[in-house]
Amino acid sequence: MHWFKAFAAVAALVASALPAPAQDFPPPAKVLFASEAEPSAGPPQSVGFYTKGCIAGAEALPIDGPNWQAMRLSRNRRFGHPDTIALIKRLSSEAAQYDGWPGLLVGDISQPRGGPMLSGHASHQVGLDADIWLNPMPDRRLTLREREDISAVSVLKNDGTLFVDPEKFTPAHERLIMRAASYPEVQRIFVHPGIKKAICEDWTGDRSNLAKLRPYYGHHYHFHIRLFCRDGSPGCTAQNAVNMKDDGCGDHLAWWLSDEPWAPAKPVTPPKKPEKPAPKPTRPAYTILSDLPAACTGVLEAPSPSPLPTAAVTPKIPLPPLAPWPEIGPVPQPRPAG
Ligand SMILES: [Zn+2]
Repeated sequence: MHWFKAFAAVAALVASALPAPAQDFPPPAKVLFASEAEPSAGPPQSVGFYTKGCIAGAEALPIDGPNWQAMRLSRNRRFGHPDTIALIKRLSSEAAQYDGWPGLLVGDISQPRGGPMLSGHASHQVGLDADIWLNPMPDRRLTLREREDISAVSVLKNDGTLFVDPEKFTPAHERLIMRAASYPEVQRIFVHPGIKKAICEDWTGDRSNLAKLRPYYGHHYHFHIRLFCRDGSPGCTAQNAVNMKDDGCGDHLAWWLSDEPWAPAKPVTPPKKPEKPAPKPTRPAYTILSDLPAACTGVLEAPSPSPLPTAAVTPKIPLPPLAPWPEIGPVPQPRPAG
């Protein structure tokens, strides 16, 4: 064997033992959108679908209002279409005035420019989704730190049941949710099936909007309001219509309360080993910017409004208090002599 042939053979051996070089894939879209701290300037426009899109010209919900407090401020998800923000404000004041609901604790709406998030939801991307906690607002202003730390409380009977606990889920909760459903801008409200069941059984008022309450997994700590695409957003993709002729209290709810939706997923049988090695992926497994509507690239690149509205400034959240020093233990009483 000629020396260079031997060298080439060794080099090939070494190369095959090394990991394949990292491919030059673009960053995940969620990283790009999560790092935008400010909305884009210009008129509001939702682009794309609730689970695949973004929003231009979003408005911030101020962290405090007469009847609301925004929670988890560090996530910076207080931004939405101005119609979403107006609807939250209206719901907060009407619920306080008429429903015996003192105020809203508002969870996630969208990021400043919408888009996918690092954690949590698949939806909430176009500024038309808002989570409202099922705990009433306390009669004091929560500190910024408390808004990070306080947990939402489940309204279910015990963990894992499908039914609400009447101690935790009250007629005022029902009035609040049905008021939200009564607004014409609202297309759907996601609630736990146990909540839908309770309202189906209890509600004696106008039932024409019960159909908007859509049972879904989770949603026993908060309910989720979804608005229709708004005028002026030609790139907003509508979700299919809710059948308003069926209040959803019959077969649909019965299915949600059956075992079927809760059965553990069947174990996946591993695929047979392919004969040939799988071809190198030509794209990453995660969502990249070019998977979103093209206009979302412009939304990401657009300048922020100048000056930035005060409400859109994210306050600095104080760090949690330092952990206390370890206890030395009680001094024995009476002290031993000497
Ligand atoms: Zn939600």
